[in-house]
Amino acid sequence: MNIIIAGAGAMGSRFGLMLHKAGNDVILIDGWADHVNQINQAGLEANFNGEVIIEKLPAYHQTDCQSIDFSADLVILFTKAMQLDGMMQAIQPMLSEKTQVLCLLNGIGHEDVIKNYVPYDNILLGNTMWTAGIEGPGKVKLFGNGSIDLQNLGENRASAEQVVEVLSAADLNARYSDSILSSIYKKACVNGTMNGLCTILDTNMAGFGETTVADSIVESIVAEFAAIAEKEHAHLNVDEVLAQIKTCYDRSTIGLHHPSMYQDLITNHRLTEIDYINGAIVRKGKEYGIATPYCSFLTDLVHAKEQIMGVK
Ligand code: NAD
Repeated sequence: MNIIIAGAGAMGSRFGLMLHKAGNDVILIDGWADHVNQINQAGLEANFNGEVIIEKLPAYHQTDCQSIDFSADLVILFTKAMQLDGMMQAIQPMLSEKTQVLCLLNGIGHEDVIKNYVPYDNILLGNTMWTAGIEGPGKVKLFGNGSIDLQNLGENRASAEQVVEVLSAADLNARYSDSILSSIYKKACVNGTMNGLCTILDTNMAGFGETTVADSIVESIVAEFAAIAEKEHAHLNVDEVLAQIKTCYDRSTIGLHHPSMYQDLITNHRLTEIDYINGAIVRKGKEYGIATPYCSFLTDLVHAKEQIMGVK
């Protein structure tokens, strides 16, 4: 299959690399010039479960899409949420009426951006449990296992199932889902609590979870997500979500880990995706007439922190 990875940071590099190794024709498109140049000069270097590998993959800067001669069957979107609209504009010349577009970003409501550029029937939404880290231009760290759930937005289930096959043939463990919005909301609840709270409180997940107020804060935030999910016809089992969040506090497993938003802002001084997690709940709350004070306050606090740190 001819595949464009649009947004080839940590996750895009993982998917690009694994799909390329499985025999697909893959190109990477990205907005970070140093990263693109390094991949083209020296290849994409990955620490792949402890083994260092280098793969030659064609990479292009997103401003060059007009001149790329590549007919894509599938685009996999892996920008950060705030980069999505710019990437969609950039790749538009490369999309045909047959190109399927799979969005695997974290967060809620990305389909509202994508449908400005892609026919509704060609949009696939997904949720992934794979992880990845970027160590510098052209260099990624890919450890552990993961999975992907995905579903077509429109009527085109056959295309979604074909994409599932291609991803699974690359050992990416994909499954067709009948309820992708529910999975997306479920993951957004974990991100919508752990990410912002650990970032603002400057702690890891166990540190937050062991405070006496953790449960009540988390329950209040999840209640806001659940109220919006219901309006969007995405069933959310609140008890199950709360139980999953509590597993994040376990020091013997992932509790000592700082969530990705902490790493973005506090460690790497990069803007966060808060507007597409808690901020999306606030926006949708306004549309539906639902109060979302906890998500609103947390979104404001994270923006204040970004500004105090001078991150742009
Ligand atoms: P990433 O930050 O590694 O890459 C996103 C974009 O930022 C890429 O275009 C990349 O080139 C660019 N970028 C990265 N470092 C940069 C730097 N120092 N200077 C300039 N540009 C830089 O993001 P990601 O982790 O691949 O995440 C992509 C999407 O997938 C997000 O929505 C994220 O929430 C989601 N996600 C990530 C993980 C994970 O483990 N990383 C897991 C599941 C979902």
